[in-house]
Amino acid sequence: MLNADYRPLSYFPLSLWPWQEAVKAAFLDRVQIVAEYDVEVHSPSMAMRLPSVVVLRDYVKPARFPAFTRFNLFLRDEFSCQYCGSRGEMTFDHVLPRSRGGRTTWENVVAACARCNLRKASLTLRQAGMKLARPAYRPDAEELQNKGRKFPPNLLHESWMDFLYWDAELEA
Ligand SMILES: [Zn+2]
Repeated sequence: MLNADYRPLSYFPLSLWPWQEAVKAAFLDRVQIVAEYDVEVHSPSMAMRLPSVVVLRDYVKPARFPAFTRFNLFLRDEFSCQYCGSRGEMTFDHVLPRSRGGRTTWENVVAACARCNLRKASLTLRQAGMKLARPAYRPDAEELQNKGRKFPPNLLHESWMDFLYWDAELEA
């Protein structure tokens, strides 16, 4: 599902609609169909090919700043531990521990692997002798969109490809 500028409304997770919703939106003229699957659906009075790419008629302005959620936080940190750089099972860590008044904000929470999280425990960075890859910060929506492009989903229909611009290095 594309915004009126023909870019996906969201890259990660990729903005996808159940086909029923796409068909309904097409009938309500909220979207224009730009590509179709070979599959047809039938009702008693008509048949139509299922839309595979639809574009919104009205441009949706993205929020300038993304919501502070677990998912967005991991995306900001590209699912890598901000202490050791490892990837995999992520937890999140308060840089200044909550027990010392650290708050749950973009500027004080980072993605961390379980091992680093355990090691840091309720110590400050200095006490734990640990360093952040970079200070925690609040990203803007544009940045998260760009980072999301690095994580293409496993299943992509070929008719979608003209509208997706995945980072080339990750296609290898
Ligand atoms: Zn780590």
